Amino acid sequence: MRDASPQTVYLKDYTPPEYLIDQIELHFELDEQRTRVQARMNVRRNPHSSADSVALKLWGEELQLLSIAIDGRPLQENEFVVGDEALIVHEAPQDRPFELLIENLIDPQANTALEGLYLSSSMLCTQCEAQGFRKITWFLDRPDVMSRFKTTLVADKAKYPVLLSNGNKTGSGELENNRHWVSWEDPFAKPCYLFALVAGQLACVADQFVTMNGRRIDLQIFVEQHNVDKCGHAMQSLKNAMRWDEQSYGLEYDLDLYMIVAVDHFNMGAMENKGLNVFNTKFVLARPDTATDSDYEHIEGVIGHEYFHNWSGNRVTCRDWFQLSLKEGFTVFRDQQFSGDMTSPAVKRIEDVNALRTRQFAEDAGPLAHPVRPEAYIEINNFYTLTVYEKGAEVVRMLHTLLGAAGFRKGCDLYFQRHDGQAVTCEDFVKALEDANGVELGQFRRWYSQAGTPVVTVEQDYDAANGRLQLTLRQSCPPTPNQPVKQPLHIPVKLGLLNADGSPTTFEFAGERHSEVTLDLTAAEQSFSFGNLAGKPVVSLLRGFSAPVTLQMPRSLDELAFLLSHDSDTFNRWEAGQQLATQAIFQLIDSIELDRPLQLEPVVVDAYRRVLADAGGDLSYQALLLALPEESYLSGQMPVIDVEAVHQAREFVKKTLAENLTEQFLELYRQYHRDESGCFDAGAVGRRRLKNTCLSYLSKLETPDSHRLAEQQFRAARNMTDQIAALAAIVNSHHPDQADCLDSFYRQWQQEALVIDKWFTLQATSSMPNTFAKVQNLMRHPAFDMKTPNRVRALVGAFSQSNPLHFHAANGEGYRFLADRVIELNALNPQIASRMVSGLAQWRRYDANRQSLMKQELQRIVATDHLSKDVYEIASKSLA
Ligand SMILES: [Zn+2]
Repeated sequence: MRDASPQTVYLKDYTPPEYLIDQIELHFELDEQRTRVQARMNVRRNPHSSADSVALKLWGEELQLLSIAIDGRPLQENEFVVGDEALIVHEAPQDRPFELLIENLIDPQANTALEGLYLSSSMLCTQCEAQGFRKITWFLDRPDVMSRFKTTLVADKAKYPVLLSNGNKTGSGELENNRHWVSWEDPFAKPCYLFALVAGQLACVADQFVTMNGRRIDLQIFVEQHNVDKCGHAMQSLKNAMRWDEQSYGLEYDLDLYMIVAVDHFNMGAMENKGLNVFNTKFVLARPDTATDSDYEHIEGVIGHEYFHNWSGNRVTCRDWFQLSLKEGFTVFRDQQFSGDMTSPAVKRIEDVNALRTRQFAEDAGPLAHPVRPEAYIEINNFYTLTVYEKGAEVVRMLHTLLGAAGFRKGCDLYFQRHDGQAVTCEDFVKALEDANGVELGQFRRWYSQAGTPVVTVEQDYDAANGRLQLTLRQSCPPTPNQPVKQPLHIPVKLGLLNADGSPTTFEFAGERHSEVTLDLTAAEQSFSFGNLAGKPVVSLLRGFSAPVTLQMPRSLDELAFLLSHDSDTFNRWEAGQQLATQAIFQLIDSIELDRPLQLEPVVVDAYRRVLADAGGDLSYQALLLALPEESYLSGQMPVIDVEAVHQAREFVKKTLAENLTEQFLELYRQYHRDESGCFDAGAVGRRRLKNTCLSYLSKLETPDSHRLAEQQFRAARNMTDQIAALAAIVNSHHPDQADCLDSFYRQWQQEALVIDKWFTLQATSSMPNTFAKVQNLMRHPAFDMKTPNRVRALVGAFSQSNPLHFHAANGEGYRFLADRVIELNALNPQIASRMVSGLAQWRRYDANRQSLMKQELQRIVATDHLSKDVYEIASKSLA
């Protein structure tokens, strides 16, 4: 920890490394408080560096130096200097490769920041991305220094019977004093952020996978003994991912062994260390009675994501951290494709867009907006953002749309072939796609450098005499920090047209007949003309959400209801329903603000009646059609956010629909409610999702019948999806047995940490009065622990990020609570602390009273002693 000394790092300052380390042999004597590390490195000048300094600077933090030697000669004290962040050898050999040997001590137990080597429960494990390796030993800790790693782990045999590292196991043996050793070798050169080790008492679930070329790969998942019955889904997901990457990208796994370890204490979701993925337990462990369908989906997605990194990230890695989206945007796109193929592409796309628009668009519109490829950072950990990941994936998706599936694949093939074993840039990726397809994507590159969400407006002009429609599209992008003026982007806009009876129509565009077309919007204003039309069509624009933009196209409630019934594009059909509900809710918000009685337009009730009557086919999709836009999405559309009015209006719509369509909701509920143990297949998932959506509506009736329905489901449920959905309905209503249900749930699951996280989150996100007092009580609950990131996210994160109504209480108690937690966490785990600050970052979006309260708390955070770089950067940029 250090006082904030805000050193900004700039992309424009990039220079190649002055030295390279071709090989490193690591020797660990593992111990909870006193781990001894020996690093033997083969170092040489980088021929591509033009720097003429003779010093060698190695990054290192919180390390205790024992010895340092070059070519076997111990260095004298005047030959080097050790600072808080680095070790500098004043004169390193220039004309020849040399061996650098460093020995140091580290204290894993004191490492509550969970970067480098740390203790999680009784297990030792590592997290090195982005810059954790420098907390293990002094090194050229940057992704463009790639080394071959050999690792030997020595530890007590009883405490640490399992000793793992990257690559293939090369030897093991016994030592005196009940100690043992295992050695590992990774044949692929890699940056140190992909290094990992794990030591502990772990049970192994094993399987095999045969690759497309007939190679047999051992698959191993390591967990604590009591969790061995929760690994089946993760293992199946891994095999599915391996097969999918062969079939979709022609990419085969390259080592003989693939290991996954699940740990309780983890800052992120999971980490793609070469051959040894380390996972948050949340994304590995699942059994139908402990995990929901959505947990199962997340596990499949994250297992796939980390596996896909083996090529998009590990074999071809990033030159510097500004290029993070090179591996993350691309890999998120790949895991989205994978999940869609495994479940329902329509549902997956809607879920991804919903998350993007609710959360990434807010990031783009706030003080922390940055491009997909940022230009500067103080703390790189702060740039593992929705923009880099989710918007980065949208950028790759647009490339896929522009080049077509076959062209995109050709480009990826060239990218992997050209850059295998290299550390490269976003520019190299785009260049490979261009070269493989013989196209020029000059303007498209602006998506990497320009921040903010573009707004596209539409003007229609129909010429009935000639059967021609002209669409004029205009794009603009609001200013973002350090980018006051924006250039037009290359925006792919997918379009279809519907006849008045709802059927799709073909049309003439650019001299050819089409049923659907992708328009290239490249200018600030551009017109497109469509001919051969029998009558005025209804336009279905931005199909599949073909670009991450805000589309402004005025439509009547009737036209939206028409599209909700008829659009053949699954995304736009859902989108029409969202817009219909959004418009209805905003009309109600106007009424609330003018103190008028609330009334829901009959056209909205009728539209939902038709959706209920149509239910069948893909039931998960039907459930999405019935789901109202979330409060945070609605708030994002308001010039000044009024959390109370948004909540009241949305609740009114939900309750009115439930009252007018009670029979229909009940009928669907009964049709799809089964007493089932919860197998994870599309049919069962869809049934549960639709049925639980109905239950959520019905619970708004607050009648003895509706209370009974929820409680019956809660008491009888044999799978977590049904149990938690029923408990959510109970916790968000005036159910008389709420306290009893919560208690019995806790007693049932107190041994299952991931289920107890859900129990915290449900209470933290409740819209019922008294929620804040409950959250404060839960902070004192024996099961709450500030050192466990999952628990902090489940309570503090859920309350501040997913409970706008209570977090933004007008008296400021929510803000004070959050700032206190951030200050507390700053000393324990800066990464988690800075993630929590985001609840305050959007302060400018609220009324004057809330603005001043939030600002006050941000100022209090910035004034904290010993503020970490992580928190300083987010809090100070939020205030700027
Ligand atoms: Zn990733």
